[in-house]
Amino acid sequence: MSGRLTRLIATAGPISVAQYMAEANAHYYAGRDPLGAEGDFTTAPEISQMFGELIGLWLADLWMRAGRPATAHYVELGPGRGTLAADALRAMRSAGLQPPANLVETSPTLSEAQAEQVPAARWHGDVTTLPDNVPLLIVANEFFDALPIHQLVATKTGWRERLVTVEEDRFVPAAGSPRPGKSVPERLRHATPGSILETSPASVAVVRELARRIAAQGGAALIVDYGHERTGLGDTLQAVERHAFADPWQAPGTRDLTAHVDFEALEDAAQAEGVRVSGPRDQGDWLKTMGIDLRAASLTKAAPESGADIAAARDRLVAPDQMGSLFKVMALVARGWPEPEGF
Ligand code: SAH
Repeated sequence: MSGRLTRLIATAGPISVAQYMAEANAHYYAGRDPLGAEGDFTTAPEISQMFGELIGLWLADLWMRAGRPATAHYVELGPGRGTLAADALRAMRSAGLQPPANLVETSPTLSEAQAEQVPAARWHGDVTTLPDNVPLLIVANEFFDALPIHQLVATKTGWRERLVTVEEDRFVPAAGSPRPGKSVPERLRHATPGSILETSPASVAVVRELARRIAAQGGAALIVDYGHERTGLGDTLQAVERHAFADPWQAPGTRDLTAHVDFEALEDAAQAEGVRVSGPRDQGDWLKTMGIDLRAASLTKAAPESGADIAAARDRLVAPDQMGSLFKVMALVARGWPEPEGF
């Protein structure tokens, strides 16, 4: 992978951070299951079944109050091992909702893992082939952080795109061609030289398409990820390998590259398509409002010997110094559908 990118840059010149990230992650996800204790990182659904169950109940509650549309489909973006889908679909079933499942996934390895959890699902390479005439109940957990970002750098003479080049066999950032000031929000335009602004046209395009579908077909989407509520400055490109931060400029394709999600940009994109947006709200507060403590108590009652593990998992998902405040939850809901719970 490093060799291929080095040759590409040697022949075609420096590439954008977005292309670097896209190529690295396509390679990274295609060939491995990165999740869990043996892998590189652990996600909320892998910590506890409570996470997927509460999301399933959130969707089922909206669906019931929307009049139980019989044709609704479940959609998940980047479903990893399929754990969240399995937990959410089980919780929905207990509420009388059994939607066909649509999984949007590009990794062959992870699609196989998902097929073991949800054998009857239909797989999609991107969101454009989702069913186009039924309400959609959509979930995306830690999906948008993996999509490519561009980085713009403030210089004394204006903003430039940050590119990636190779120096002595090492990938390094380099300033590229000037970018018009209007690509930077007004209040950030005069940032001090060296400041970095990240944009993710790929994420915005996906949210636009989801919002367009929800507005036209009915339904809702729940987006959960780490990120910031307002567009801000800062370099958030990061690599994770074996549960530790690693250098994002080294060994592309062997470590997970992510960036913080700019929820304000996603919210603007959704609103432009005419759906209602709730949140973003801290994951910990959302899970507590959705009843994680009741669910933990009932799981503990059924298996008292697991009480300490259940309490630890609950804390990991909810505590502000763990996942509780870095992670945010945002909902897109069709006009004409009810107010979502938890916000
Ligand atoms: N949601 C899961 C996995 C998160 S990891 C969980 O919470 O455990 C990111 C997921 O997004 C993986 O399944 C990865 O293969 C998938 N993914 C990354 N880029 C993608 C893209 N461009 N299109 C579809 N899926 C993608």
